[in-house]
Amino acid sequence: MKRALLLGGLLAVGSLSMTLVAFQSPAAPKVIEVEKLKDHLFVLKGGGANTAVFVGSNGITVVDTKNPGWGQPILDKIKELSNKPVVRIINTHTHGDHVSGNVEFPATVDVVVQENTKANMQRMAPVTGLGQPPGQNIFEANGGRGMAKQTFKDKMTLGSGADQIDLYYFGRGHTNGDAWVVWPALRVLHAGDIFSGKVAPLLDANNGGSGVEIGSSLTRAADSIKNIDTVITGHAVAMMTMADLREYAQFNKDFLEYVRGGVQGGKSVDAIAAEYKVPAKYAGYQAAEARVKSNVQVIADELKKK
Ligand SMILES: [Zn+2]
Repeated sequence: MKRALLLGGLLAVGSLSMTLVAFQSPAAPKVIEVEKLKDHLFVLKGGGANTAVFVGSNGITVVDTKNPGWGQPILDKIKELSNKPVVRIINTHTHGDHVSGNVEFPATVDVVVQENTKANMQRMAPVTGLGQPPGQNIFEANGGRGMAKQTFKDKMTLGSGADQIDLYYFGRGHTNGDAWVVWPALRVLHAGDIFSGKVAPLLDANNGGSGVEIGSSLTRAADSIKNIDTVITGHAVAMMTMADLREYAQFNKDFLEYVRGGVQGGKSVDAIAAEYKVPAKYAGYQAAEARVKSNVQVIADELKKK
């Protein structure tokens, strides 16, 4: 069964290091690989973020909808998995590789996000560190289709029993609206990009992200969410565990202290970034030069404000 679902299993390598929009030529075939996690829960990989598809008794919930143009391929792939209708989208945060497919879903589909993410989706501000020019808001360009309809602040429960989905917000990190999505009956968590993989995070200050807060937000999640066997991250191909999440929290706390030490020692942002090395205990973590530099800048700016 699992093997049969790995249709066209060509997945771009290197997606670990991407936490944002992969620019592709429009002609490139849109290939989605399906990993079946549980009887009613699938991860759709390719085209941006890891999309989760949950087949509930009254319809399907989709978590994150990938880059522009990937909404229909998601819907096509879902048809191979179930004949139930999609009733709900949950977006973990505002970024284009997580929300853009929303506009290709039927207008009747509910869209649920953390309340700060709704405000961010209304602006779609350029992402910190990517040098993007301001573009047209994809929701405005589509007459408001796909925009968030329902919001929560700290916690929301949707459905009950086998259908139950719990949504949490544990504070700023990647943005100021990072939702954590939990299926308690399945013991699965989708962390979105606040834990995108074993990689230096993208700290999107333009959308409320925080390098000072991210470590404690991650720890709060690891302490609060119980009984999880499998963690879906924003982008990593491999599934993770709560132990990986705890390690990632510490990785970010260590980075904050590294930057704080440099700032207090009077070093420039460039010097702090250039001298950074991933500590040996975080084997396999990726920290691209441009990402590190952007994150040092974000944290230095935050520390200055304190
Ligand atoms: Zn993101």
